[in-house]
Amino acid sequence: MKIKKLDIAIVGAGPVGLSFALSLANSGLSVAILEKQAYENIRNPNFDGRDIALTHFSKSQLKEWGVWQHLPAEQIHPLKKAQVIDGQLFSRDQKHSDSLKFEGADNLDTPLGFLVANHQIRKALFKQIKQHSHIQLLCEQEVQTIKTSLYSSLIETKSQTLEAKLIVASDSRFSATRRMMGLSAKMKDFGKLMIVCNMQHTLSHMNTAQECFQYERTCAILPLGEGYSSIVLTLNASEADRLLNLTNESFSEEVETMLDSRLGKMSLLGERNAYPLIGVMSNRFIAERFALIGDAAVGMHPVTAHGFNLGLSSVSTLANLIIKADSANKSIASQRLLLEYEARHKLLSKPLYDATNAIVALYTNKTPMAKVIRKLGIKIGNRLPPFQHLVTKRLTRISKL
Ligand SMILES: Cc1cc2nc3c(=O)[nH]c(=O)nc-3n(C[C@H](O)[C@H](O)[C@H](O)COP(=O)(O)OP(=O)(O)OC[C@H]3O[C@@H](n4cnc5c(N)ncnc54)[C@H](O)[C@@H]3O)c2cc1C
Repeated sequence: MKIKKLDIAIVGAGPVGLSFALSLANSGLSVAILEKQAYENIRNPNFDGRDIALTHFSKSQLKEWGVWQHLPAEQIHPLKKAQVIDGQLFSRDQKHSDSLKFEGADNLDTPLGFLVANHQIRKALFKQIKQHSHIQLLCEQEVQTIKTSLYSSLIETKSQTLEAKLIVASDSRFSATRRMMGLSAKMKDFGKLMIVCNMQHTLSHMNTAQECFQYERTCAILPLGEGYSSIVLTLNASEADRLLNLTNESFSEEVETMLDSRLGKMSLLGERNAYPLIGVMSNRFIAERFALIGDAAVGMHPVTAHGFNLGLSSVSTLANLIIKADSANKSIASQRLLLEYEARHKLLSKPLYDATNAIVALYTNKTPMAKVIRKLGIKIGNRLPPFQHLVTKRLTRISKL
């Protein structure tokens, strides 16, 4: 078998792998992406229920790579306000003290972020990849083995062998290549399933995202276009199974009851998708001539909507170090460079990962003490405009998370 030689082999053409290839598009480095799925699934991915809340930093990255321009304007939904509600069922006259609120800046002219469907982001990334004929996208190529040494790395699929200076893995939170390289990870099974779907409704969502923690389950509304939203339910597996097996009409009625008719009459648009909730933090992000990015490095609980945004931060940190080293005629896979990437990305991601897990633990805990802490947290948060200002600033700034 002929061995293909290149600078960087990327494993996985998910949103993070494609973004990483684009971040190197003008660097002059030779790049190939190995993806186990068929080409058509990457070119034209199906709706998967996920609506991704993008920060201003993520938008600026996607703009810089020419990806944002491929997103249809009517598919970009500005998120003007967000509200976290503790324990109670939703009601339109929710007392101020029961919820923590965040608003976009400058009289809402600067939104908190932008909601875009995951499959639309992937489509736009693919379109931009096609503009760079030197980026090779090799589909139906599941990685089988990886061997790295001081001098180079070899990566094999059933029909190809690639020799690369560096391998970068973005092959999901259940990364097989992470295991092939002997890197361990801490996995946290939250014991719940997340059902996501789009629903039409008769009352306005007022461009406000709402997250309601009801201990046994959480319900979230992500406002999309006028009269429709993404609905996100987190439930025990048996309850999720029951809801997934209901007819569209019965499911819509149940969701309407769960939301206390906050959005009026509800009706399901399209399919329901379900995801198991498993958080992953890899203990190391690097090995010899090997680095993990995206969910393969850190797979977040979706509640704080950090996953892809954090993935883009890993992309920019690693790509900037590689481009800088290459333009100074230094190795793009030195231990020093990789250690710097690991340290920087760990510093950013570990506190977010731990804080997200702590929020989930606190808001799903039914003990009286946890309830007191939550109410206190909401009161303090609401009475501390600097706290709300800090969160808003963090979401809207055009630097990393
Ligand atoms: C319900 C839900 C809601 C979410 N909401 C948000 C949000 O609001 N904001 C946000 O920022 N993030 C959100 N996320 C997280 C976001 O979707 C992920 O962080 C993002 O998809 C990770 O992208 P990735 O490319 O790292 O991995 P993936 O999307 O998992 O892609 C991995 C790719 O690698 C390929 N692959 C796997 N193994 C191999 C192999 N051995 N060889 C070759 N190819 C392989 C796969 O086929 C796939 O194409 C949400 C996630 C969920 C589940």
